[in-house]
Amino acid sequence: MVKLSVLFVAYDFTSMGGLTHLKLGIEYVLVTGLLQVLQVNYTHASQTFLRKRMSQAPTVEEALALYGGQSGEELVVATTHPTFATSLEGLDGTGKTLYILKTAPLPMVYVNFGDRDPYVILNESGMEERRKHITVYQFQSTSVDGWTRKEGDESLAAMAQLARAHLSDGKMVGGTFALDSGSTWWDVMQECKVAPEEEKAVAAAVAKGKDFRKSGGLIYTKANLVVSGVLNWIKAQGVYLIITHQKAEKWGPNGPILGQYKSRINSKVPGLMEVRINMKKVCKVCEGDECEAKTHMGRDFLGQIIKFGHDGSTIEGMTFGGTKGQSGVDFSLIYQLYTGAKYEPSI
Ligand SMILES: [Zn+2]
Repeated sequence: MVKLSVLFVAYDFTSMGGLTHLKLGIEYVLVTGLLQVLQVNYTHASQTFLRKRMSQAPTVEEALALYGGQSGEELVVATTHPTFATSLEGLDGTGKTLYILKTAPLPMVYVNFGDRDPYVILNESGMEERRKHITVYQFQSTSVDGWTRKEGDESLAAMAQLARAHLSDGKMVGGTFALDSGSTWWDVMQECKVAPEEEKAVAAAVAKGKDFRKSGGLIYTKANLVVSGVLNWIKAQGVYLIITHQKAEKWGPNGPILGQYKSRINSKVPGLMEVRINMKKVCKVCEGDECEAKTHMGRDFLGQIIKFGHDGSTIEGMTFGGTKGQSGVDFSLIYQLYTGAKYEPSI
């Protein structure tokens, strides 16, 4: 076995998506930012294959060595800590940040991407021990006009870098990586990765004397690759990934439709999440989502499971918390439903 060090220069962390899946031999690979050192163990077989042209079919042994194939048995044995990724979706004030900071497994990296203020929850009594094991990163726009493209680009690169620093080499197996909110992250992504593509497409159309028609397809490719690349990589590090998503009013032909909301979510994210929970705050009296009746006192915090693992047939649709269920919506409940085992926190 000959060990080679190969230098890769990545001009854009879009490359993360592709390279995350590229397992050359033994070392696991991630490329973000500007310069990465990638160590590749070439086996004798793959070297022989590399000397052949790509037009020649490799042997099965060569393909296994070169592309890191595993038997199903090997894969199960190698996966020491199966985890699941969760999307918490809901309007403001429905308990998404609270679920993460108060109940998700420690140690935790909590990335505040937008306008959350984790301080209030971290400062509560009862949080003295937990907060010692929570690392907070905050990315906010510096102006009231929102994110500039430069700030956005820097924050996207920084998030990938901090994820690598904290999670690589199994440093946080069994802990939590939380992104609050994924909606703001996606807004920034659209400004930095989609808008420039759209501007190019508009310019190209204008140059040809045509009108630009937004098709929604190709201009999203780059951003979608970054989203799935980053999230898939985080998931592969043995941590529980939790992303929150805000909800926005649904719009009809005559403006916003009263009482109807949809999650502000990247189209690839639902497929990457094993669990999706719709977080709700309802009136204790009339159970209305946004009750304004002056005589109706009290609110219940509920969570409704809208996606659950590979077979959610018995769980999806279930509502927890408040007066509806026996216990509140917290991580240990979801863990127990997902794994069938009681959640035993390591910290
Ligand atoms: Zn009410």
